[in-house]
Amino acid sequence: MGNLETIYDVVVIGAGPGGLTAALYTSRANLNTLIIERGVPGGQMMNTGEIENYPGFDHITGPDLSTKMFEQATKFGAEYKYGDVKGITDTPDYKIVHTSKEDIKTKTIIIATGTTPRYLGVDGEDKFRGRGVSYCAICDGAFFKEKELIVVGGGDSAVEESQYLTKFANKVTVVHRRDAFRAQSVLQNRFFDNEKTDVIWDSTVEEIKGDDKVSTVVLKNVKTGEISNVNADGVFVYIGLIPLSEPFKIVKVQDENGNVVEEVQITNDKGYIPTDESMNTKVKGIYAIGDIREKDLRQIVTATGDGGIAAVSAQHYIENL
Ligand code: FAD
Ligand code: NAP
Repeated sequence: MGNLETIYDVVVIGAGPGGLTAALYTSRANLNTLIIERGVPGGQMMNTGEIENYPGFDHITGPDLSTKMFEQATKFGAEYKYGDVKGITDTPDYKIVHTSKEDIKTKTIIIATGTTPRYLGVDGEDKFRGRGVSYCAICDGAFFKEKELIVVGGGDSAVEESQYLTKFANKVTVVHRRDAFRAQSVLQNRFFDNEKTDVIWDSTVEEIKGDDKVSTVVLKNVKTGEISNVNADGVFVYIGLIPLSEPFKIVKVQDENGNVVEEVQITNDKGYIPTDESMNTKVKGIYAIGDIREKDLRQIVTATGDGGIAAVSAQHYIENL
């Protein structure tokens, strides 16, 4: 068990599928492992209704897969604690993870903090957040039984989650800024086969209106400039993700006297963290995995793959200290 003087072998920041897999591998390799999470275990999987592209499961809900991964990750002795990580420091003897409450010493760090939904940034969005505006169908969909909903976006999330919302709502209309979805074709086929779903192409949301709750969404056709009002009881926003990398943008490097001798930026201009294929960042012993990493495919299966690779890289790094 950790105490104030413990120097962990591995601290994993974030308990999504990437972080939980990394912790499974490091703890099973007998490395003293701590997972720090500021929310609940599962990450974005906790906001996902149905998962059917994680091998081994024909179909599983996001919360169920989260529970299974968490139980498996902690089974081999990985510690888990709540913590909001604010920064990291590299010293000659160890690395330090700074949370809002404490400093934790470790030989290696695996950053697995993922992303958060992007906001629309239109009038009414802040006012009606939690009163009709949502970013999570599995969290809030059940509040909209027999209602009419707008979903914004054209990627996998918008197309898949609009399907999920038809379990509750009478009608789900997706508003997309272009005239074609970027979502996987299997999701699009299901969307177009569903009688409860519809789409408004080439349009953006200009404003969300209502009294106590959402009642109207103002749309603009980007080709004609035409403005229209659509009745809606709720708006689900799925317009992409923002990397949660701010605490790791700069890694402070200290000398043996505790003086900061270098500040290394490990993020790119979009806030993602580039790595090599062993998940190494620019600072030795610090790894990045999952959605926070600069890469093409952000999926559960790629996050878990990254996690396994980073765990083995950390193990080799520690063996050579
Ligand atoms: P995340 O799952 O984002 O987990 C990161 C964790 O880090 C979070 O728990 C967060 O609280 C924590 N954290 C962040 N910052 C800090 C900090 N400073 N301190 C402490 N903790 C922190 N993929 C599929 O393969 N199949 C699907 O069906 C699928 N459906 C999806 C549906 C939706 C609506 C969305 C948004 C995504 C979906 N994805 C799906 C993508 C998949 O969820 C992600 O690729 C995957 O969760 C990424 O895992 P991760 O471990 O990198 O990060
Ligand atoms: P995404 O792939 O980045 O798609 C965002 C969508 O929102 C795009 O269609 C984009 O339009 C649109 N958009 C962006 N900014 C906008 C704005 N300001 N106003 C209006 N529309 C805007 O995001 P995502 O769908 O959330 O997916 C995120 C990641 O999770 C992806 O890697 C995805 O594959 C993964 N995911 C996987 C699954 C699955 O495997 N079943 C399910 C969900 C998510 P353009 O198309 O014009 O750019």
